[in-house]
Amino acid sequence: MMAARRLTTTFATLALISVIGCAPSEGAVTAPAHGGSASGGGAAASPGAPLERSDTVGAPGIGDPAFPLDGNGGYDVGHYTLKLSYDPASKLLAGSAQIQATAVQNLSRFDLDLHGFTVSQVTVGGSEARFAREGDELVVTAPKMIVKNAPFTVTVHYSGVPDPVRNSSNLGTYGFIPTPDGSFVTSEPDGAKTWFPSNDHPSNKATYDFEITVPQGVTAIANGEQTAPPKTSGGKTTFVWREKHPMASYLATMTTGKFDVRTGTSPGGIPVYAATDPKYRDALDTLYTKTAEITDYWATVFGPYPFSSTGGVIDDFNAGYALENQTKPIYGGFTPDTGIIAHELAHQWFGDSVSVKRWQDLWLNEGFATYAEWLWSEHTGGATAEQMFRNAYADKTNAMWTYPPGKPRPEDLFNDAVYTRGALALHALRQKIGDTAFFTLIKKWTATYKYGNATTAQFIAMAEQTSGKKLGPLFDAWLYQPTRPTLG
Ligand code: ZN
Repeated sequence: MMAARRLTTTFATLALISVIGCAPSEGAVTAPAHGGSASGGGAAASPGAPLERSDTVGAPGIGDPAFPLDGNGGYDVGHYTLKLSYDPASKLLAGSAQIQATAVQNLSRFDLDLHGFTVSQVTVGGSEARFAREGDELVVTAPKMIVKNAPFTVTVHYSGVPDPVRNSSNLGTYGFIPTPDGSFVTSEPDGAKTWFPSNDHPSNKATYDFEITVPQGVTAIANGEQTAPPKTSGGKTTFVWREKHPMASYLATMTTGKFDVRTGTSPGGIPVYAATDPKYRDALDTLYTKTAEITDYWATVFGPYPFSSTGGVIDDFNAGYALENQTKPIYGGFTPDTGIIAHELAHQWFGDSVSVKRWQDLWLNEGFATYAEWLWSEHTGGATAEQMFRNAYADKTNAMWTYPPGKPRPEDLFNDAVYTRGALALHALRQKIGDTAFFTLIKKWTATYKYGNATTAQFIAMAEQTSGKKLGPLFDAWLYQPTRPTLG
């Protein structure tokens, strides 16, 4: 069977285990993080509500209705510098996060998202700042008012044993997950806060510098490229990585452990970094070769590869799933087949370069990545996308027909409908507008919203504009109705 199904089924199965096996989590999204005693006048704005002009308190959430406390209001982060050391033996993560941001309102106070850890010091513009912890909000009081449009720098010094999110919903365990020899970091949708203080929502993308120190013999792998060779002294090695293209916080990683590494350049000229845990050493060359080949192929279908390198990591943490970490998808505890590699690499265009503005539009990531698996199957002489469409459509009793992928429930975001019915929606669109308009649209989509964020409404508008057809009813039937669409 195709990779997507295996991938999502595995994910759903894990999720089910986590539902049964875990105590309900801390109620997630009900209470606002702030009480009424806001400085600067006025209580914290409710998430999503426009701030009063006089309000100088950054909202505790960035305004995603599905995840009211994810991200924060009042500022936009441009760059993170994470200087972290990790000791696999004690599981202690310690160091600093320097955050360069711009105020989008006057700010006397603002939040960062951070789960767990002991925070020892926070500075704003080099001056010591007062801070408080309220749930997963790190509330920082500015030493002096930060005026609207001003750039400012926050540095947070912190340490502790990371506590990944064990969600009571089908999201499973995610975030910074300690492993026997290091760490497995997969943060979708909001697990970045389990390892660094952040504006943890994909609508605030930023560039990243990583300086990661681990015991000698351990490899630290992050996004982007290494800007200097690793340096060892006193039994510790420091790896420096830089992701110079904007990245959503959930795609940031610092995978550490024992790894065999192969680097080089794809036939199409893209630098490749592949790494495998010793247990998967036999898979390293195939991972390297297929990653290079598929990245090159997608560049001909989706438009130029958006980042400065491609890659992949196979770790021995038995997750059973993969995540599209920017420039370096990670595969947890299995040797990926080319279908899954094709899926995760398609995400580099759909999800990583063009990111969702709100989680409700996740089908823009997963529908495209699943459809990419069908395109890959067709390209390599397997079932065609049309056959995949027909097979899935013929399954009349599939649960996806009652689950509209364009409005997934927040606690069931990664439902199979978002993947499979999302892919079906794209194929139905292709049937309606024809191959020329469809593939023109895809390239226009990745070019127009490159490194940014986009919404379903923007996709529909571009599809209508590119094809010259009215497509509202088609998208409504495939994305928003709890019924199996009729074929046009
Ligand atoms: Zn995916």
